[in-house]
Amino acid sequence: MAENYDVIIIGSGPGGYVAAVRAGQLGLKTAIVEREHLGGICLNWGCIPTKALLRSAEILDHSNHLKDYGLVLEGKVSADVKAVVARSRGVSARLNQGIGYLMKKNKVDVIWGEAKITKPGEIVVGKSTKPVVEPQHPLPKNVKGEGTYTAKHIIVATGARPRALPGIEPDGKLIWTYFEALKPDFLPKSLLVMGSGAIGIEFASFYRSMGVDVTVVEVMPTIMPVEDAEISGIARKQLEKRGLKIFTKAKVTKVEKGANSITAHVETEDGKVQQITADRMISAVGVQGNIENLGLEALGVKTDRGCVVIDGYGKTNVAGIYAIGDVAGPPMLAHKAEHEGVVCIEKIAGLPNVHPTDKSKVPGCTYCNPQVASVGLTEAKAKEQGRDIRVGRFSFVANGKAIALGEDQGMVKVIFDKKTGELLGAHMVGAEVTELIQGFVVAMNLETTEEELMHTIFPHPTVSESMKEAVLDAYGRVLNA
Ligand SMILES: Cc1cc2nc3c(=O)[nH]c(=O)nc-3n(C[C@H](O)[C@H](O)[C@H](O)COP(=O)(O)OP(=O)(O)OC[C@H]3O[C@@H](n4cnc5c(N)ncnc54)[C@H](O)[C@@H]3O)c2cc1C
Repeated sequence: MAENYDVIIIGSGPGGYVAAVRAGQLGLKTAIVEREHLGGICLNWGCIPTKALLRSAEILDHSNHLKDYGLVLEGKVSADVKAVVARSRGVSARLNQGIGYLMKKNKVDVIWGEAKITKPGEIVVGKSTKPVVEPQHPLPKNVKGEGTYTAKHIIVATGARPRALPGIEPDGKLIWTYFEALKPDFLPKSLLVMGSGAIGIEFASFYRSMGVDVTVVEVMPTIMPVEDAEISGIARKQLEKRGLKIFTKAKVTKVEKGANSITAHVETEDGKVQQITADRMISAVGVQGNIENLGLEALGVKTDRGCVVIDGYGKTNVAGIYAIGDVAGPPMLAHKAEHEGVVCIEKIAGLPNVHPTDKSKVPGCTYCNPQVASVGLTEAKAKEQGRDIRVGRFSFVANGKAIALGEDQGMVKVIFDKKTGELLGAHMVGAEVTELIQGFVVAMNLETTEEELMHTIFPHPTVSESMKEAVLDAYGRVLNA
C-alpha cells in the first residue's frame, strides 16, 4: 500500500524545504520529493553561489584601491577563476548538506526522484529525468525512492528554469545560462550579457570585476527595470565608471556563432543594428515556472503565463493542491518562496490568524557593485496609482560612515503618502544597502509613518543614518545636507 502523509511537497528549494520544516514543527507527517539537488536553485545555482562569487569580486575590487586607504601591496592581486569557482561550489555544498540535516531534525521524509500528481491526493515518483549537472552531494540517510505516495495536501514547489528567446537559445558552450556562468573553467576576454535584471547585472558586475570586457544589452529604458529609475540611473553610472558598456532600449535580434565567439546583432534605439562580437554570451532574459509533466493540466489546475495561479495562502483552484515559490509567479525570489511556504503550511494546519502573503512588501536586492535594494512602490508606480506623494533623498556623500569607508557613492530615496504619512516605498543604491533595506521593510510591515521614523534613533556613525536623513528630507528637515 502507498505510504500516506499529511503533506507532500514537490521540490526542496527555499519554498519547499522551509514549508517542510514548518510542517514538521507543527507535527504534520511530511515528505519532500526532490529530483536533483536539496536546496533547489537558490542554494545550488542561485542566491548563494552567486553571492560567494560576488564576495571574491568585492575583495578583488577593494584590493585594486588599497592605495586609497594608505595600504601598500608589493605585486598585484589577481583572480584564480578555478579557485573562485571552487569556493563558491563549496559554499553551496555546505548548505545543501545542511538541508538534509534540517529534514532529519524535523522528521521530514526525503523521497528521491521525479514526482507527478496522478490524482488529487496521490503522486507517483519516478526516476529523475534531469541530467546530473554536477556530482550529487551525499544524500541524507534513509532517503525513500520511486513509488506511489498519498497525502491529503500536495504542495507544488518546483521552481523555475532559465527562459530562452527563440533563435537565441543557450547552448551551454558559447551562449550560457546561469548554470554555466556560475562555474566557468576559464575567464572569457569579452562577454555579452543579454538582459539586465538582477541575475544579468550580478553576472555582469562579477565578470567585470574579474577583468572581463562586459557589454550589457537591455530592451527596457533602464537597467534593473523593476527598480526606481533614479536609483537604477545612479547604479548605471557607477557600473559604466567601472568599465561596463550598457545599451538600453536595445535588442539582440540575432546571434551568429563562430568557433570560439559569438556575434550579436544589436538593434539600438535609433533603429540601427550594431554587431558586437564577444567570446561568450549570457542569456539572462528571465525565468519560467516548472509547471510541465506534473499532471497539473489533467487535474485542471489553473495556470497563467507559465505559473500556477494561487490565492494568498498558496491554494490552487483544485482542492488539496497548492503551489508556492517561483512556480507560483513573481516576484521570483527566495524569501518570497519561503514566506509563501510558511503561510501555506500554517493555513493547512488550521492555525488562527494566518495572514495572506502581501507581495507589495517583498524586498528586492541586487548584489552588484554598487548594490541596489528596494521595497514597495517606485516613484513612477506611486504616481501611476495617482498617489499624492512626498519624496525624500539622502546622498552618501554627506554620510560620515560612508566617507570613512571610502564608499560615498550611494543614495537612499523614500516615498511617503502626502496625506497619511504612510511609507510607500524605499529605494537604495550603494555599499551594503542589501542589509540596510530590512529596516524599511520592518517599518512598512508595521505600517509606520514618517513621524515614527523621525523619532527612531539610528546609531552613529552608520550608513543607516542616511535612511533617517532621507525621511527627514521628505519633510524639509534634513540635518546633514
Ligand atoms: C543566478 C541566480 C541568482 C539568484 N539570486 C537570488 C538572490 O540573491 N535572492 C533571491 O531572493 N533570489 C535569488 N534568485 C532566485 C531564487 O533562486 C529563487 O527565487 C528560488 O530558488 C525559488 O525557490 P523555489 O523553492 O520556488 O524553487 P527552486 O529553488 O527552483 O527549487 C525547486 C526544486 O524543485 C525540484 N523539482 C522540480 N520539479 C520536480 C519534480 N517533478 N519532482 C521532484 N523535484 C522537482 C527542482 O529540482 C528544485 O530543486 C536567484 C536565481 C538565480 C538563477
